[in-house]
Amino acid sequence: MSNQPGILYIVATPIGNLGDFSPRAVDVLKHVDFIAAEDTRHSKKLLAHFGINRPLVSCHEHNETEQARNFCDRLQQGESIALVSDAGTPLVSDPGYRIVREAIQRGLRISPVPGPCAAIAALSVSGLSSDRFLFVGFLPPKQGARLAALTRVADETATLIFYESPRRMRDTLENMVTVFGGERQAVLARELTKLHETVGNGTLLQLLQAVDADSNWQKGELVILLEGNPVDKRDRPGYEIESVLRPLLAELSLKQAVHLASQITGARKNDVYQIAVDLSRD
Ligand code: SAM
Repeated sequence: MSNQPGILYIVATPIGNLGDFSPRAVDVLKHVDFIAAEDTRHSKKLLAHFGINRPLVSCHEHNETEQARNFCDRLQQGESIALVSDAGTPLVSDPGYRIVREAIQRGLRISPVPGPCAAIAALSVSGLSSDRFLFVGFLPPKQGARLAALTRVADETATLIFYESPRRMRDTLENMVTVFGGERQAVLARELTKLHETVGNGTLLQLLQAVDADSNWQKGELVILLEGNPVDKRDRPGYEIESVLRPLLAELSLKQAVHLASQITGARKNDVYQIAVDLSRD
């Protein structure tokens, strides 16, 4: 330990293939004072494989706020810490955000050790436009909320990236057909870097049919990517009202949705009503 504050390293780990663990990541993990891990039992196996033998401290979504203070106290006392998650890049649909924020607030140094990330790996082989993309992450598990979340990104022109569990992927694809239409181009990237790595391209409807024809699609880890909306509707008159109305209509009656949308946008109720009727008809 020194009088200087320690460094918080954010270290990416493999998403399947152990060959993707970078030499620098291994080196950093071997030299920190301790490793903060989402699931210590899970990380122990990976670290043992690489001969890394540093103390492990648990840091998951239920203790992150408390650990953020604790870790930053220890950084200020001169200890260095590496944060890892179960797989891939910490903070990407994984814990770590609160710790990084607390460290920034205390003026501590944070250093990334970049590496695997399922979203970026999937995008790199998707063949979809990669100059602009929106990482949506996991959708809500309940159907109503999931439809509303999809509706919110229906007009997005950037490529969309979703994480999904194998259990829910079929329902999610069906919901995507409902919201985006069956003709939107999509990609299923399954078990990336692993033995059964499979990438499927096609329209949403074609991919739904492929999933029904082969149950293997519903096994293992999966990223779903969608082409952005080919038509940029955002400059159209009434766009703002429409985008407020869509999620409201998915959850409420037409009357309630119109009432709320007119309050939110300040538009006349009659105008909102006309747009709501058109949307409901679609
Ligand atoms: N932090 C991780 C990252 O950088 O990708 C993501 C963690 S998140 C809890 C786990 C989700 O990532 C899975 O449900 C799946 O959607 C996606 N994922 C992780 N590994 C994958 C793989 N090898 N192939 C496809 N998707 C994967």
